[in-house]
Amino acid sequence: MFKRYTITFWATLFVGVVCLSLVAVDVWRSLIARDAQVLEMERLTSNVARAMAQHADDTIKAADTSLADLVERVETDGVGAPQLARVRRQMLQHVTNLPQLAGLFIYGESGQWLVNSPAVLGPSLNNADREYFVYHRTHAGRGPHVGEPVISRSSGKWIIPVSRRLNKADGSFAGVALATLDIDYFRRFYQSFDIGARGAVALISSQGVLMLRQPFDERRVGISLCDTPLFQAYSAQPNGKGLFASSNDNEVRYNNYRALEHYPLFVTAALSQQEMLEHWRHDSFMRSIGVIVLAALLGFFGKRLVGQINLRVQAQAELLQARDALESANRTLERLAMQDGLTGLANRRQLDVTLGNEFSRAMRHADTLAFVMIDVDYFKQYNDLYGHGAGDDCLRAVSKLIRALTPKRAGDVVARYGGEEIAILLPDTGLDGAQAVAERIRLAIASMQTAHRGSPFGMVTISAGVAAMAPQRGDSSGQLVAAADKALYAAKSAGRNQVGVAAMPAAAPQTAPESTPQSTPDGAA
Ligand code: GH3
Ligand code: MG
Ligand code: MG
Repeated sequence: MFKRYTITFWATLFVGVVCLSLVAVDVWRSLIARDAQVLEMERLTSNVARAMAQHADDTIKAADTSLADLVERVETDGVGAPQLARVRRQMLQHVTNLPQLAGLFIYGESGQWLVNSPAVLGPSLNNADREYFVYHRTHAGRGPHVGEPVISRSSGKWIIPVSRRLNKADGSFAGVALATLDIDYFRRFYQSFDIGARGAVALISSQGVLMLRQPFDERRVGISLCDTPLFQAYSAQPNGKGLFASSNDNEVRYNNYRALEHYPLFVTAALSQQEMLEHWRHDSFMRSIGVIVLAALLGFFGKRLVGQINLRVQAQAELLQARDALESANRTLERLAMQDGLTGLANRRQLDVTLGNEFSRAMRHADTLAFVMIDVDYFKQYNDLYGHGAGDDCLRAVSKLIRALTPKRAGDVVARYGGEEIAILLPDTGLDGAQAVAERIRLAIASMQTAHRGSPFGMVTISAGVAAMAPQRGDSSGQLVAAADKALYAAKSAGRNQVGVAAMPAAAPQTAPESTPQSTPDGAA
Protein backbone atom coordinates (compact mmCIF):
# COMPACT_ATOMS: atom_id res chain seq x y z
CA MET A 1 0.00 0.00 0.00
CA PHE A 2 2.82 2.42 0.96
CA LYS A 3 4.90 1.30 -2.02
CA ARG A 4 2.05 1.91 -4.46
CA TYR A 5 2.34 5.69 -4.11
CA THR A 6 5.37 7.86 -4.62
CA ILE A 7 7.07 9.89 -1.92
CA THR A 8 5.79 13.00 -3.74
CA PHE A 9 2.23 11.79 -3.27
CA TRP A 10 2.76 11.24 0.44
CA ALA A 11 4.50 14.58 0.91
CA THR A 12 1.64 16.37 -0.90
CA LEU A 13 -0.91 14.47 1.17
CA PHE A 14 0.94 15.37 4.36
CA VAL A 15 1.07 19.09 3.56
CA GLY A 16 -2.60 19.02 2.55
CA VAL A 17 -3.65 17.26 5.74
CA VAL A 18 -1.66 19.69 7.89
CA CYS A 19 -3.26 22.70 6.16
CA LEU A 20 -6.76 21.23 6.47
CA SER A 21 -6.19 20.32 10.12
CA LEU A 22 -5.08 23.87 10.83
CA VAL A 23 -8.29 25.27 9.33
CA ALA A 24 -10.46 22.61 11.01
CA VAL A 25 -8.93 23.23 14.43
CA ASP A 26 -9.47 26.96 14.02
CA VAL A 27 -13.11 26.56 13.01
CA TRP A 28 -13.66 24.20 15.94
CA ARG A 29 -11.99 26.58 18.36
CA SER A 30 -14.04 29.45 16.99
CA LEU A 31 -17.32 27.55 17.51
CA ILE A 32 -16.31 26.72 21.06
CA ALA A 33 -15.46 30.36 21.71
CA ARG A 34 -18.89 31.38 20.39
CA ASP A 35 -20.62 28.88 22.67
CA ALA A 36 -18.65 30.24 25.60
CA GLN A 37 -19.67 33.79 24.65
CA VAL A 38 -23.35 32.82 24.45
CA LEU A 39 -23.08 31.07 27.80
CA GLU A 40 -21.54 34.20 29.30
CA MET A 41 -24.41 36.22 27.83
CA GLU A 42 -26.93 33.89 29.45
CA ARG A 43 -25.19 34.09 32.80
CA LEU A 44 -25.04 37.88 32.72
CA THR A 45 -28.67 38.42 31.70
CA SER A 46 -29.85 35.86 34.24
CA ASN A 47 -28.00 37.64 37.06
CA VAL A 48 -29.26 41.08 36.03
CA ALA A 49 -32.87 39.88 35.70
CA ARG A 50 -32.73 38.23 39.12
CA ALA A 51 -31.34 41.39 40.75
CA MET A 52 -33.95 43.56 39.00
CA ALA A 53 -36.86 41.36 40.06
CA GLN A 54 -35.64 41.26 43.63
CA HIS A 55 -35.13 45.03 43.65
CA ALA A 56 -38.58 45.78 42.22
CA ASP A 57 -40.25 43.37 44.65
CA ASP A 58 -38.46 44.92 47.64
CA THR A 59 -39.10 48.50 46.49
CA ILE A 60 -42.82 48.01 45.97
CA LYS A 61 -43.15 45.90 49.09
CA ALA A 62 -41.69 48.65 51.32
CA ALA A 63 -44.07 51.25 49.84
CA ASP A 64 -47.00 48.88 50.10
CA THR A 65 -46.26 48.20 53.76
CA SER A 66 -46.46 51.94 54.49
CA LEU A 67 -49.69 52.06 52.54
CA ALA A 68 -51.25 49.21 54.51
CA ASP A 69 -50.26 51.06 57.67
CA LEU A 70 -52.03 54.25 56.55
CA VAL A 71 -55.15 52.39 55.42
CA GLU A 72 -55.46 50.72 58.78
CA ARG A 73 -55.04 54.04 60.64
CA VAL A 74 -57.49 56.04 58.49
CA GLU A 75 -60.09 53.32 58.62
CA THR A 76 -59.77 53.05 62.42
CA ASP A 77 -59.39 56.76 63.34
CA GLY A 78 -61.54 58.37 60.67
CA VAL A 79 -60.77 61.50 58.62
CA GLY A 80 -61.19 64.29 61.16
CA ALA A 81 -58.67 67.16 61.00
CA PRO A 82 -56.55 66.10 64.01
CA GLN A 83 -56.49 62.51 62.82
CA LEU A 84 -55.41 63.59 59.35
CA ALA A 85 -52.66 65.74 60.87
CA ARG A 86 -51.33 62.66 62.62
CA VAL A 87 -51.57 60.65 59.44
CA ARG A 88 -49.58 63.35 57.66
CA ARG A 89 -46.77 63.20 60.21
CA GLN A 90 -46.68 59.48 59.74
CA MET A 91 -46.59 59.97 55.94
CA LEU A 92 -43.64 62.33 56.19
CA GLN A 93 -41.79 59.85 58.30
CA HIS A 94 -42.34 57.10 55.67
CA VAL A 95 -41.31 59.36 52.79
CA THR A 96 -38.14 60.34 54.64
CA ASN A 97 -37.26 56.73 55.38
CA LEU A 98 -37.98 55.30 51.93
CA PRO A 99 -36.06 56.98 49.09
CA GLN A 100 -38.23 55.30 46.43
CA LEU A 101 -41.35 57.01 47.76
CA ALA A 102 -42.20 60.17 45.81
CA GLY A 103 -45.27 60.76 47.96
CA LEU A 104 -48.17 59.27 49.96
CA PHE A 105 -51.73 60.40 49.38
CA ILE A 106 -55.23 59.78 50.75
CA TYR A 107 -58.23 60.56 48.54
CA GLY A 108 -61.81 60.74 49.59
CA GLU A 109 -64.58 58.78 47.94
CA SER A 110 -65.10 61.37 45.23
CA GLY A 111 -61.40 61.69 44.42
CA GLN A 112 -60.65 64.86 46.42
CA TRP A 113 -57.30 65.17 48.18
CA LEU A 114 -57.71 64.55 51.93
CA VAL A 115 -54.13 64.46 53.03
CA ASN A 116 -50.71 63.94 51.38
CA SER A 117 -47.04 64.01 52.16
CA PRO A 118 -46.11 67.01 50.00
CA ALA A 119 -46.67 70.21 51.93
CA VAL A 120 -49.20 71.75 49.56
CA LEU A 121 -52.68 70.47 49.49
CA GLY A 122 -54.42 71.45 46.31
CA PRO A 123 -58.10 71.28 47.22
CA SER A 124 -58.96 72.04 43.64
CA LEU A 125 -57.15 68.92 42.46
CA ASN A 126 -59.19 65.83 41.92
CA ASN A 127 -57.85 62.40 41.05
CA ALA A 128 -61.16 60.65 40.48
CA ASP A 129 -60.16 60.25 36.84
CA ARG A 130 -56.99 58.31 37.56
CA GLU A 131 -56.90 54.66 36.54
CA TYR A 132 -56.12 53.41 40.06
CA PHE A 133 -59.05 55.44 41.53
CA VAL A 134 -61.51 53.99 39.07
CA TYR A 135 -60.05 50.55 39.70
CA HIS A 136 -60.57 50.61 43.48
CA ARG A 137 -64.02 52.23 43.23
CA THR A 138 -65.09 49.36 41.01
CA HIS A 139 -63.17 46.54 42.72
CA ALA A 140 -63.90 45.48 46.31
CA GLY A 141 -60.51 43.71 46.69
CA ARG A 142 -58.27 44.93 49.56
CA GLY A 143 -54.94 43.97 48.01
CA PRO A 144 -52.44 46.41 46.54
CA HIS A 145 -52.85 47.68 43.00
CA VAL A 146 -49.91 48.70 40.84
CA GLY A 147 -51.04 51.15 38.22
CA GLU A 148 -49.62 52.40 34.97
CA PRO A 149 -46.88 55.04 35.17
CA VAL A 150 -48.16 58.60 35.06
CA ILE A 151 -46.72 62.09 35.41
CA SER A 152 -47.41 63.22 38.94
CA ARG A 153 -49.84 66.13 39.32
CA SER A 154 -48.03 67.20 42.45
CA SER A 155 -44.38 66.94 41.31
CA GLY A 156 -44.54 66.75 37.53
CA LYS A 157 -42.27 63.66 37.61
CA TRP A 158 -42.87 60.17 36.25
CA ILE A 159 -44.21 57.94 38.99
CA ILE A 160 -45.60 54.44 39.41
CA PRO A 161 -48.77 54.45 41.55
CA VAL A 162 -49.27 51.73 44.14
CA SER A 163 -52.65 51.99 45.80
CA ARG A 164 -55.07 50.34 48.25
CA ARG A 165 -58.80 50.81 48.73
CA LEU A 166 -60.25 52.58 51.78
CA ASN A 167 -63.46 51.13 53.11
CA LYS A 168 -66.13 52.59 55.33
CA ALA A 169 -67.26 50.56 58.32
CA ASP A 170 -70.03 48.98 56.22
CA GLY A 171 -67.51 47.91 53.59
CA SER A 172 -68.53 50.50 51.00
CA PHE A 173 -65.98 52.55 49.06
CA ALA A 174 -64.41 55.35 51.13
CA GLY A 175 -61.52 56.44 48.93
CA VAL A 176 -57.98 55.44 47.97
CA ALA A 177 -54.60 55.41 49.71
CA LEU A 178 -51.83 55.98 47.21
CA ALA A 179 -48.07 55.64 47.26
CA THR A 180 -46.16 57.01 44.26
CA LEU A 181 -42.83 55.40 43.37
CA ASP A 182 -40.22 57.57 41.81
CA ILE A 183 -39.26 56.15 38.40
CA ASP A 184 -35.84 57.77 38.77
CA TYR A 185 -35.21 55.50 41.73
CA PHE A 186 -35.55 52.49 39.42
CA ARG A 187 -33.56 54.16 36.66
CA ARG A 188 -30.65 54.88 38.96
CA PHE A 189 -30.53 51.19 39.89
CA TYR A 190 -30.80 50.03 36.28
CA GLN A 191 -28.04 52.38 35.21
CA SER A 192 -25.65 50.55 37.50
CA PHE A 193 -25.70 47.44 35.27
CA ASP A 194 -23.11 46.99 32.55
CA ILE A 195 -25.28 45.76 29.71
CA GLY A 196 -23.23 47.19 26.85
CA ALA A 197 -24.08 50.10 24.58
CA ARG A 198 -26.93 48.28 22.88
CA GLY A 199 -28.37 46.31 25.81
CA ALA A 200 -31.70 47.13 27.47
CA VAL A 201 -33.61 46.34 30.65
CA ALA A 202 -37.33 46.84 31.27
CA LEU A 203 -40.01 46.59 33.89
CA ILE A 204 -43.30 45.44 32.37
CA SER A 205 -46.71 44.79 33.89
CA SER A 206 -48.15 41.33 33.54
CA GLN A 207 -50.85 42.98 31.37
CA GLY A 208 -48.13 43.87 28.87
CA VAL A 209 -47.81 47.56 29.67
CA LEU A 210 -44.26 48.93 29.53
CA MET A 211 -43.64 50.60 32.92
CA LEU A 212 -40.06 51.58 32.43
CA ARG A 213 -37.23 50.87 30.07
CA GLN A 214 -33.59 51.70 30.28
CA PRO A 215 -32.39 53.37 28.00
CA PHE A 216 -35.31 55.60 28.98
CA ASP A 217 -37.72 57.01 26.44
CA GLU A 218 -40.65 59.00 27.81
CA ARG A 219 -42.71 58.41 24.70
CA ARG A 220 -42.69 54.68 25.20
CA VAL A 221 -43.81 54.64 28.84
CA GLY A 222 -47.23 53.03 29.13
CA ILE A 223 -47.33 51.48 25.65
CA SER A 224 -48.62 47.98 25.21
CA LEU A 225 -46.18 45.19 24.44
CA CYS A 226 -48.88 42.53 24.14
CA ASP A 227 -48.03 41.79 20.51
CA THR A 228 -44.30 41.38 21.04
CA PRO A 229 -42.65 37.95 20.99
CA LEU A 230 -41.16 38.73 24.40
CA PHE A 231 -44.58 39.18 25.99
CA GLN A 232 -45.95 36.10 24.26
CA ALA A 233 -43.03 34.08 25.61
CA TYR A 234 -43.64 35.52 29.08
CA SER A 235 -47.35 34.65 28.89
CA ALA A 236 -46.45 31.04 28.13
CA GLN A 237 -43.73 30.80 30.76
CA PRO A 238 -43.17 33.58 33.34
CA ASN A 239 -39.46 32.86 33.81
CA GLY A 240 -37.41 32.18 30.73
CA LYS A 241 -34.98 33.31 28.11
CA GLY A 242 -34.80 33.75 24.37
CA LEU A 243 -33.61 35.70 21.37
CA PHE A 244 -36.16 38.37 20.40
CA ALA A 245 -36.14 41.27 17.99
CA SER A 246 -36.98 44.45 19.88
CA SER A 247 -40.26 46.18 19.01
CA ASN A 248 -38.48 49.43 19.77
CA ASP A 249 -35.36 49.38 17.60
CA ASN A 250 -35.50 45.96 15.90
CA GLU A 251 -32.24 45.02 17.60
CA VAL A 252 -32.03 41.25 18.18
CA ARG A 253 -31.36 40.76 21.87
CA TYR A 254 -30.81 37.86 24.12
CA ASN A 255 -33.53 38.28 26.82
CA ASN A 256 -33.78 36.79 30.26
CA TYR A 257 -37.20 37.61 31.77
CA ARG A 258 -38.46 36.90 35.24
CA ALA A 259 -41.76 37.54 37.06
CA LEU A 260 -41.83 39.45 40.38
CA GLU A 261 -42.64 37.23 43.30
CA HIS A 262 -45.37 39.38 44.90
CA TYR A 263 -46.63 41.81 42.26
CA PRO A 264 -48.11 41.43 38.78
CA LEU A 265 -44.99 42.62 37.01
CA PHE A 266 -42.00 41.12 35.26
CA VAL A 267 -38.56 42.32 34.35
CA THR A 268 -36.34 41.53 31.41
CA ALA A 269 -32.61 41.98 30.93
CA ALA A 270 -31.52 41.92 27.30
CA LEU A 271 -28.10 42.02 25.62
CA SER A 272 -27.57 42.78 21.97
CA GLN A 273 -26.55 39.59 20.24
CA GLN A 274 -24.51 41.44 17.68
CA GLU A 275 -22.71 43.53 20.26
CA MET A 276 -21.92 40.56 22.47
CA LEU A 277 -20.57 38.56 19.54
CA GLU A 278 -18.67 41.56 18.17
CA HIS A 279 -15.54 40.70 20.11
CA TRP A 280 -15.81 37.04 19.17
CA ARG A 281 -16.32 37.97 15.54
CA HIS A 282 -13.32 40.26 15.49
CA ASP A 283 -11.20 37.68 17.27
CA SER A 284 -12.29 34.91 14.90
CA PHE A 285 -11.65 37.12 11.89
CA MET A 286 -8.13 37.98 13.01
CA ARG A 287 -7.36 34.37 13.80
CA SER A 288 -8.77 33.22 10.47
CA ILE A 289 -6.46 35.64 8.67
CA GLY A 290 -3.56 34.25 10.69
CA VAL A 291 -4.54 30.69 9.88
CA ILE A 292 -5.02 31.44 6.20
CA VAL A 293 -1.60 33.11 6.02
CA LEU A 294 -0.05 30.18 7.88
CA ALA A 295 -1.78 27.64 5.64
CA ALA A 296 -0.71 29.59 2.55
CA LEU A 297 2.91 29.67 3.77
CA LEU A 298 2.74 25.98 4.58
CA GLY A 299 1.26 25.25 1.17
CA PHE A 300 3.91 27.38 -0.56
CA PHE A 301 6.87 25.86 1.25
CA GLY A 302 5.25 22.43 1.12
CA LYS A 303 5.04 22.75 -2.67
CA ARG A 304 8.68 23.73 -2.83
CA LEU A 305 9.59 20.86 -0.56
CA VAL A 306 7.66 18.44 -2.72
CA GLY A 307 9.47 19.89 -5.75
CA GLN A 308 12.81 19.33 -4.04
CA ILE A 309 11.85 15.80 -3.11
CA ASN A 310 10.83 15.21 -6.71
CA LEU A 311 14.18 16.45 -7.97
CA ARG A 312 15.97 14.25 -5.50
CA VAL A 313 13.95 11.22 -6.44
CA GLN A 314 14.67 11.91 -10.10
CA ALA A 315 18.37 12.44 -9.44
CA GLN A 316 18.45 9.24 -7.42
CA ALA A 317 16.78 7.30 -10.23
CA GLU A 318 19.22 8.74 -12.75
CA LEU A 319 22.10 7.94 -10.44
CA LEU A 320 20.89 4.35 -10.11
CA GLN A 321 20.56 4.09 -13.86
CA ALA A 322 24.07 5.45 -14.35
CA ARG A 323 25.39 3.04 -11.73
CA ASP A 324 23.72 0.09 -13.45
CA ALA A 325 25.13 1.15 -16.82
CA LEU A 326 28.55 1.57 -15.26
CA GLU A 327 28.37 -1.81 -13.56
CA SER A 328 27.33 -3.48 -16.79
CA ALA A 329 30.16 -1.70 -18.65
CA ASN A 330 32.55 -2.78 -15.92
CA ARG A 331 31.44 -6.37 -16.18
CA THR A 332 31.92 -6.26 -19.94
CA LEU A 333 35.34 -4.72 -19.51
CA GLU A 334 36.21 -7.27 -16.88
CA ARG A 335 35.08 -10.07 -19.13
CA LEU A 336 37.01 -8.60 -22.03
CA ALA A 337 40.07 -8.18 -19.84
CA MET A 338 39.90 -11.83 -18.87
CA GLN A 339 38.95 -13.17 -22.32
CA ASP A 340 40.90 -13.92 -25.40
CA GLY A 341 39.56 -11.97 -28.35
CA LEU A 342 40.11 -14.57 -31.04
CA THR A 343 38.94 -17.78 -29.41
CA GLY A 344 36.65 -16.56 -26.65
CA LEU A 345 38.61 -18.68 -24.21
CA ALA A 346 40.05 -17.32 -20.96
CA ASN A 347 43.20 -15.34 -21.59
CA ARG A 348 46.60 -15.86 -20.09
CA ARG A 349 45.93 -13.38 -17.30
CA GLN A 350 42.85 -15.22 -16.07
CA LEU A 351 44.69 -18.48 -16.30
CA ASP A 352 47.52 -17.12 -14.16
CA VAL A 353 45.10 -15.79 -11.52
CA THR A 354 43.08 -19.00 -11.36
CA LEU A 355 46.16 -21.16 -11.42
CA GLY A 356 47.61 -19.20 -8.48
CA ASN A 357 44.37 -19.55 -6.49
CA GLU A 358 43.84 -23.20 -7.27
CA PHE A 359 47.46 -24.02 -6.55
CA SER A 360 47.16 -22.49 -3.05
CA ARG A 361 43.86 -24.20 -2.46
CA ALA A 362 45.22 -27.60 -3.52
CA MET A 363 48.16 -27.02 -1.18
CA ARG A 364 45.84 -26.25 1.74
CA HIS A 365 43.59 -29.23 1.10
CA ALA A 366 46.33 -31.58 -0.03
CA ASP A 367 44.52 -32.03 -3.36
CA THR A 368 45.94 -32.91 -6.72
CA LEU A 369 45.98 -30.30 -9.48
CA ALA A 370 46.35 -31.20 -13.15
CA PHE A 371 47.52 -29.07 -16.08
CA VAL A 372 47.27 -29.87 -19.77
CA MET A 373 49.21 -27.96 -22.42
CA ILE A 374 47.96 -28.39 -26.00
CA ASP A 375 49.76 -27.26 -29.16
CA VAL A 376 48.55 -27.56 -32.76
CA ASP A 377 50.91 -29.63 -34.89
CA TYR A 378 52.56 -28.04 -37.90
CA PHE A 379 50.55 -24.92 -37.52
CA LYS A 380 53.12 -22.67 -39.06
CA GLN A 381 52.78 -24.71 -42.26
CA TYR A 382 48.99 -24.51 -42.02
CA ASN A 383 49.23 -20.75 -41.99
CA ASP A 384 51.64 -20.80 -44.80
CA LEU A 385 49.48 -23.13 -46.87
CA TYR A 386 45.99 -21.84 -46.19
CA GLY A 387 46.61 -18.30 -45.05
CA HIS A 388 46.44 -16.60 -41.68
CA GLY A 389 42.67 -16.17 -41.81
CA ALA A 390 42.13 -19.88 -42.26
CA GLY A 391 44.66 -20.40 -39.46
CA ASP A 392 42.52 -18.23 -37.21
CA ASP A 393 39.38 -20.18 -38.16
CA CYS A 394 41.14 -23.43 -37.44
CA LEU A 395 42.31 -22.12 -34.11
CA ARG A 396 38.75 -21.09 -33.24
CA ALA A 397 37.36 -24.50 -34.19
CA VAL A 398 40.01 -26.28 -32.16
CA SER A 399 39.32 -24.00 -29.17
CA LYS A 400 35.61 -24.61 -29.39
CA LEU A 401 36.06 -28.33 -29.39
CA ILE A 402 38.50 -28.25 -26.48
CA ARG A 403 36.07 -26.06 -24.57
CA ALA A 404 33.25 -28.52 -25.23
CA LEU A 405 35.25 -31.52 -24.12
CA THR A 406 36.60 -30.04 -20.90
CA PRO A 407 34.73 -30.68 -17.62
CA LYS A 408 32.84 -27.62 -16.47
CA ARG A 409 33.40 -27.75 -12.74
CA ALA A 410 34.26 -24.66 -10.72
CA GLY A 411 37.95 -24.01 -11.13
CA ASP A 412 38.29 -25.76 -14.49
CA VAL A 413 39.78 -23.28 -16.94
CA VAL A 414 40.48 -23.52 -20.65
CA ALA A 415 42.77 -20.68 -21.68
CA ARG A 416 44.70 -19.56 -24.70
CA TYR A 417 48.23 -19.83 -23.38
CA GLY A 418 49.85 -18.07 -26.30
CA GLY A 419 50.03 -18.43 -30.09
CA GLU A 420 48.30 -21.70 -30.93
CA GLU A 421 48.87 -23.15 -27.46
CA ILE A 422 45.88 -23.87 -25.28
CA ALA A 423 46.11 -24.76 -21.59
CA ILE A 424 43.61 -26.58 -19.42
CA LEU A 425 43.63 -26.30 -15.64
CA LEU A 426 41.86 -29.16 -13.87
CA PRO A 427 41.74 -28.80 -10.08
CA ASP A 428 41.07 -31.83 -7.94
CA THR A 429 42.12 -34.06 -10.83
CA GLY A 430 44.80 -36.69 -10.95
CA LEU A 431 47.21 -37.48 -13.76
CA ASP A 432 44.98 -40.23 -15.13
CA GLY A 433 41.93 -38.03 -15.26
CA ALA A 434 43.85 -35.25 -17.01
CA GLN A 435 45.36 -37.70 -19.46
CA ALA A 436 41.92 -39.04 -20.29
CA VAL A 437 40.67 -35.52 -20.95
CA ALA A 438 43.69 -34.76 -23.18
CA GLU A 439 43.32 -38.00 -25.03
CA ARG A 440 39.64 -37.38 -25.61
CA ILE A 441 40.48 -33.98 -27.05
CA ARG A 442 43.26 -35.30 -29.22
CA LEU A 443 40.97 -37.93 -30.74
CA ALA A 444 38.15 -35.49 -31.25
CA ILE A 445 40.36 -33.05 -33.12
CA ALA A 446 41.75 -35.75 -35.30
CA SER A 447 38.23 -36.90 -36.07
CA MET A 448 37.36 -33.35 -37.22
CA GLN A 449 39.38 -34.34 -40.25
CA THR A 450 40.43 -30.81 -41.07
CA ALA A 451 42.67 -31.13 -44.10
CA HIS A 452 46.28 -30.12 -43.60
CA ARG A 453 48.47 -30.86 -46.54
CA GLY A 454 51.55 -29.72 -44.66
CA SER A 455 51.16 -32.35 -41.98
CA PRO A 456 52.32 -35.92 -42.34
CA PHE A 457 48.93 -36.89 -40.90
CA GLY A 458 47.15 -35.01 -43.71
CA MET A 459 44.88 -33.26 -41.25
CA VAL A 460 45.00 -30.95 -38.30
CA THR A 461 46.14 -32.70 -35.13
CA ILE A 462 47.32 -31.63 -31.75
CA SER A 463 49.89 -32.74 -29.25
CA ALA A 464 49.38 -32.41 -25.54
CA GLY A 465 51.50 -32.52 -22.40
CA VAL A 466 49.81 -33.52 -19.15
CA ALA A 467 51.13 -32.93 -15.66
CA ALA A 468 49.62 -33.25 -12.20
CA MET A 469 50.87 -32.63 -8.68
CA ALA A 470 49.79 -32.43 -5.08
CA PRO A 471 51.57 -29.19 -4.22
CA GLN A 472 53.72 -29.11 -1.11
CA ARG A 473 55.03 -26.16 0.83
CA GLY A 474 57.78 -24.63 -1.29
CA ASP A 475 56.33 -25.80 -4.66
CA SER A 476 55.31 -23.27 -7.32
CA SER A 477 52.72 -23.37 -10.07
CA GLY A 478 55.55 -22.72 -12.53
CA GLN A 479 56.80 -26.25 -11.82
CA LEU A 480 53.44 -27.69 -12.89
CA VAL A 481 53.34 -25.63 -16.09
CA ALA A 482 56.95 -26.47 -16.89
CA ALA A 483 56.26 -30.19 -16.39
CA ALA A 484 53.26 -30.04 -18.75
CA ASP A 485 55.38 -28.10 -21.23
CA LYS A 486 58.09 -30.69 -20.98
CA ALA A 487 55.59 -33.50 -21.56
CA LEU A 488 54.31 -31.63 -24.61
CA TYR A 489 57.82 -31.29 -25.90
CA ALA A 490 58.26 -35.01 -25.42
CA ALA A 491 55.04 -35.71 -27.35
CA LYS A 492 56.26 -33.48 -30.17
CA SER A 493 59.59 -35.19 -30.22
CA ALA A 494 57.93 -38.56 -30.25
CA GLY A 495 56.14 -37.75 -33.49
CA ARG A 496 53.23 -35.42 -32.56
CA ASN A 497 49.50 -36.18 -32.47
CA GLN A 498 49.90 -37.74 -29.06
CA VAL A 499 49.62 -37.02 -25.35
CA GLY A 500 52.78 -36.81 -23.28
CA VAL A 501 52.47 -37.45 -19.57
CA ALA A 502 54.85 -35.89 -17.08
CA ALA A 503 55.90 -37.89 -14.10
CA MET A 504 55.49 -35.76 -10.95
CA PRO A 505 56.84 -37.36 -7.77
CA ALA A 506 54.23 -35.79 -5.45
CA ALA A 507 51.25 -36.47 -7.69
CA ALA A 508 52.06 -39.76 -9.20
CA PRO A 509 55.13 -41.54 -7.89
CA GLN A 510 56.34 -43.15 -11.02
CA THR A 511 59.71 -44.61 -11.64
CA ALA A 512 60.57 -42.70 -14.80
CA PRO A 513 61.45 -39.09 -13.97
CA GLU A 514 61.51 -38.16 -17.64
CA SER A 515 58.42 -37.12 -19.57
CA THR A 516 57.33 -39.84 -21.89
CA PRO A 517 54.67 -39.92 -24.52
CA GLN A 518 52.00 -42.27 -23.25
CA SER A 519 49.58 -42.38 -26.07
CA THR A 520 50.45 -43.10 -29.61
CA PRO A 521 49.12 -41.42 -32.66
CA ASP A 522 46.23 -43.17 -34.16
CA GLY A 523 44.53 -42.62 -37.41
CA ALA A 524 47.82 -41.56 -39.05
CA ALA A 525 49.77 -44.56 -37.77
P1 GH3 B 1 54.96 -27.84 -34.23
O1 GH3 B 1 54.30 -29.02 -34.81
O2 GH3 B 1 56.32 -28.09 -33.74
O3 GH3 B 1 54.13 -27.19 -33.22
O4 GH3 B 1 55.13 -26.90 -35.41
P2 GH3 B 1 54.51 -25.51 -35.58
O5 GH3 B 1 54.61 -25.04 -36.95
O6 GH3 B 1 53.09 -25.50 -35.08
O7 GH3 B 1 55.43 -24.70 -34.66
P3 GH3 B 1 55.06 -23.69 -33.63
O8 GH3 B 1 54.16 -24.32 -32.61
O9 GH3 B 1 56.28 -23.05 -33.07
O10 GH3 B 1 54.23 -22.70 -34.52
C1 GH3 B 1 53.79 -21.43 -34.14
C2 GH3 B 1 53.05 -20.87 -35.28
O11 GH3 B 1 51.70 -20.72 -35.00
C3 GH3 B 1 53.59 -19.54 -35.62
C4 GH3 B 1 52.47 -18.85 -36.21
O12 GH3 B 1 52.54 -18.85 -37.59
C5 GH3 B 1 51.27 -19.65 -35.77
N1 GH3 B 1 50.43 -18.84 -34.98
C6 GH3 B 1 50.68 -18.46 -33.72
N2 GH3 B 1 49.61 -17.68 -33.29
C7 GH3 B 1 48.69 -17.58 -34.32
C8 GH3 B 1 47.47 -16.98 -34.52
O13 GH3 B 1 46.92 -16.30 -33.68
N3 GH3 B 1 46.87 -17.12 -35.73
C9 GH3 B 1 47.40 -17.81 -36.71
N4 GH3 B 1 46.76 -17.94 -37.89
N5 GH3 B 1 48.59 -18.41 -36.59
C10 GH3 B 1 49.26 -18.32 -35.39
MG1 MG C 1 53.42 -23.57 -30.71
MG1 MG D 1 52.53 -25.93 -33.04
